[in-house]
Amino acid sequence: MRTDTAQPVRLSEYRAPDYLIDHVDLDIRLHLSATHVRARLSIRPNPLGRPGAPLTLDGDGLSATTVLLDGGALDLGVIAIGPERLTIAEPPRKAFELTIDTIVDPSANTQLMGLYRSGSAYCTQCEAEGFRRITYFLDRPDVLSVYTTRIEAEKAQAPVLLGNGNLVESGDIPGSSRHYAIWHDPHPKPCYLFALVGGDLGSIHDAFTTRSGREVKLGIYVEHGKESRAAYAMDALKRCMRWDEEAFGREYDLDVFNIVAVSDFNMGAMENKGLNVFNDKYVLALPGTATDLDYAHIEAVIAHEYFHNWTGNRITCRDWFQLCLKEGLTVFRDQEFSSDQRSRPVKRISDIRALRAAQFPEDGGPLAHNVRPDTYLEINNFYTPTIYEKGAEVIRMLKALIGAEAFRRGMDLYFERCDGMAATVEDFIACFAEVSGRDLAQFMRWYSQAGTPTLKATSAYDTSARTFTLTLAQSTAPTPGQPDKQPLVIPVALGLVGSGGDLPLTTPAPHEDGGASARECASGVFELATETRKLVFHDIAERPAPSILRGFSAPVKLDLDSPAEDLLTLAARDTDLVNRWQAIQTSANRLLAASVATIRMGDVPAPDARFAEALASVIDAFAADPAFTAQAISLPTEADMAREIGVDVDPDAIHMARRELRRSLGLQLQPQLLKAYEALSTDAPYSPDARSAGARALRNTALDLIAAGDARTGADIAMRQFQSAHNMTDQFGALAVLSMIPGDQREQALDAFYRTHAADHLVVDKWFALQGLIPEASTFERVQTLMQHHAFTYANPNRLRSLIGSFAANLTQFHAADGRGYDLIASVVLEMDSRNPQVAARLLGAFRTWRSMEAGRRLHAQAALQRVAEAQGLSADVRDIVDRSLA
Ligand SMILES: [Zn+2]
Repeated sequence: MRTDTAQPVRLSEYRAPDYLIDHVDLDIRLHLSATHVRARLSIRPNPLGRPGAPLTLDGDGLSATTVLLDGGALDLGVIAIGPERLTIAEPPRKAFELTIDTIVDPSANTQLMGLYRSGSAYCTQCEAEGFRRITYFLDRPDVLSVYTTRIEAEKAQAPVLLGNGNLVESGDIPGSSRHYAIWHDPHPKPCYLFALVGGDLGSIHDAFTTRSGREVKLGIYVEHGKESRAAYAMDALKRCMRWDEEAFGREYDLDVFNIVAVSDFNMGAMENKGLNVFNDKYVLALPGTATDLDYAHIEAVIAHEYFHNWTGNRITCRDWFQLCLKEGLTVFRDQEFSSDQRSRPVKRISDIRALRAAQFPEDGGPLAHNVRPDTYLEINNFYTPTIYEKGAEVIRMLKALIGAEAFRRGMDLYFERCDGMAATVEDFIACFAEVSGRDLAQFMRWYSQAGTPTLKATSAYDTSARTFTLTLAQSTAPTPGQPDKQPLVIPVALGLVGSGGDLPLTTPAPHEDGGASARECASGVFELATETRKLVFHDIAERPAPSILRGFSAPVKLDLDSPAEDLLTLAARDTDLVNRWQAIQTSANRLLAASVATIRMGDVPAPDARFAEALASVIDAFAADPAFTAQAISLPTEADMAREIGVDVDPDAIHMARRELRRSLGLQLQPQLLKAYEALSTDAPYSPDARSAGARALRNTALDLIAAGDARTGADIAMRQFQSAHNMTDQFGALAVLSMIPGDQREQALDAFYRTHAADHLVVDKWFALQGLIPEASTFERVQTLMQHHAFTYANPNRLRSLIGSFAANLTQFHAADGRGYDLIASVVLEMDSRNPQVAARLLGAFRTWRSMEAGRRLHAQAALQRVAEAQGLSADVRDIVDRSLA
C-alpha cells in the first residue's frame, strides 16, 4: 500500500516516456495465494524521450523472482528492485526484451486493485494504477502496447478463462488438472485497460452484426444460477451498440465482447478492452429483485462502458490529468443514449438532480478542483462528479455553442485524427475549433477553473417602448488555490413566455446596445462571455415570464429576480419541460428557505396556497407524462436545501421546514394524489420500459406525499402495496414509505423484507441503505446494531456503501448536533483504510460540506477530521482527502 508520503504530480511537469513498450507477452498461472506472472516486454527507446535515460518500471508491493534482459541475467548494481520500482540504470540504446517474473497473492488483495478474488473468481482492476500490482511496468496511459495473454488455471477451479481481445488458442495441459487460454488484443492499449478473469461462472450468449457486417459474439458471465438476470443487460448492450453506429458512426472492432459481473468491486464498472468487468449491481436484474431505477442504471452503465471502446480505449488519455477527456465525454454519450431510449426531459431532470446533489457541493467546498486538475497526490481521488458529470456538462455546452451539426463533424474529426493516440483536452477541442471556425480559447477555462459560477439574471419591461431588457451577470466564488476567477463562456438558452406561448426573440444588431446575433435569436442560445451582458428584446406586447437556462444549458447556479407569479406561469406553461420542473423547484426552495428562517426564529411557518394550487394542476395533468409529473411533485431534498442555504446550515431546521411543507401539501392534495395513485394501478405484467416505469414512479411519489400528509392513510396504502406488490419497484417503494413512519408496522415490514430477500445480496444492500437514511435520532443506534448484523461486512464495497454510505448521506443524522455521526464515519474510515484505501477515501468525502454547517457542528466535524488526520500510517488516498478537507 502506498502511504502518505506521496509526492504531488503536476500537469505542467508532463514529459513523454523515455521508453516505449510495443509488445507485452504475459504468462499468468493462476493460484489462490501464489499466482506466477511472467511478463516479456518488448521495449525500445522513445525517440521523443531522453536518450540513455535509466529505465524505471512502476511496481506496488511487488518483488521479482527473475529479471532477464534479452534472455540473460542482469548484474546486481545494474538493476535495482524494490516493491515500488524496478530500475535499470543503463539499458541498451536499441530495442530489447525484458523478462520479469513476479508472484502475487490474489486472496490477500483487499484493496481490489490489481489481481484479486471476488467470490470464487479471479479478476482484475487496473485503472488507474493497478497493473503495477501485477507486474513491473511503465504504468502510465501514454505507453500503448499490443498484448498477448496466456492464462492458466486449475480446470475445476476456473473453467472459464477470459482476457482482452480475441481468443486464439485454448486447451488442456496434458498430464495435469490444469488448462489454459491465449488471448490476443491487436489494438495497442495502455496497461490500465488490461484485464483477465478466471472462474467457475455461468453465462449467456448472443451475437451482434455491425453495420459493416462484422459478426460479434457477445457474452455475459455471472454467478451460476443468475444467468436469467443478465438478459436485460444483454438487451441494453445490443441497443447501445446499434445506437453508437447511428448517433456517432462508431462500430465495434473485435470478434468478441464479454462482460463479467463480480460482487466485490470498488467502482461501477470498468471498460477493459473487449472484457468489461462490472459491479454486479449494474448487470443483474429481474422484476422481483431490481427497481426501475436499477434497470435504468444498468442500461446507462452498460452503455457507458461500451462507449468507452472509442472514447477511452481507441483514443485514450495522454496522462491522468486528461481523465475528463474519456469520462466527461463518455458520460455525455451515455446520457444522450438514455435520453434517446427514454424521455429526454425526464432524463435531463434526473441528471440535473444528480449533478446538483454530488458535484455542486464538491465544487463549493474544500475538495473543489478543475474539470482538468493541475495537480494530484492520489489519482484514485479524482474519479469525482466534477471529472465525470461536470465534464459531461462541458461537452453539452460545447454542442450548444457550435450547434449539433458542427458538433458531429468535430466528433468525426476527433475519431479520425486521434484514433490510436493518447490524447489531450487540447487535441479534442482543436477538432471543434477547426470545424466550427470558432476560437475556443476562452471556452477552455471550463477545464481550468473550478467552482460553480453564479448566473444572475435581472429583467425590466418597458410598457411604452414594448421592450424587455434582460441583464445577465456571471461570477464565481474563489476555490482552493484559485482566488481570482475569469469570465467563462456560458451558453444561456432562453425563452420569453407570454400568455399565448413563446414570444419571438428580436434584438438590435449585435454591435448595438442590447443586441444579439441572428444566430442567437434564431437558436434561443445567447452567449455570456463577459462579466455582464444586456439583451434588449423588441416588440414585446406584454410583460413576459423569462425562462432562463432552458434545458439547464450550463452547470451554473441561477440567481433569478423573477416574482413568484412568473415562476407559477412557467410551472404551468413553459414549453421547456426542464424549466417547468425548475420553476416548481425554485418556488419550493424559496418557500422552504423562508420557513427555515422562520423556524430558526422560533416561529411556525405558514402554508402557501398558491404553490399547492400549482402542484394540483400539475397532478391533474399527470396522464400526459407520469414520469415528468413524478419529478415535478418531488420537492427539493434536504441536501438540496442545505446547498441552497449555503452557510450556517442547520439540518434540523431544514428537516422541519421540509416535513411541514410536505405535510401540508400531502393533506391538501390528497384527493388528487389518490386519484392518480388509483388510476395508475395495473395488473399488467412488469415491463421496465420508460412509460411503465414512469407510471410506477408517479404512484410511489404520490404515495410518499400522501403519507407525509396523513401517516395513517399512507401507511395503510403502503402496507397493502407492500404485501401485494409483484415487482421490486412497488415493493421497495412501499417499504421506503413505511420506513419513514415510526412504529411496529415499520419494523415488521423491514423484517419481512429481509426474510424474503436474505439470499440476494443486491436486495439486502437496499435493505441496509434504506435504514441508514431514516431521519430520526434512533438511526444512529440502528446503524450501530446493523454493523453487528451477520450480513454486514467491511470486505464488500457495495455493502459498506449501502449502510455506512447512506448514513453519511443522511443530512440530519450524519450532521447530528452532538457530533456522533461525524465520529462514526471517521471511525469507519480509519477501520477501512488499512483494508481498502480507495473506498475509505471516498467515504471521507462525506465531510466535503462541513464548513457550510452552523458553528457547533463545524467544531465537531473538524475534531473528527483531525482525529483521522492524526492517525498513524494513513494511506495516500485518505491523507490527501483529509488534508484538503482541513486546509
Ligand atoms: Zn467511464
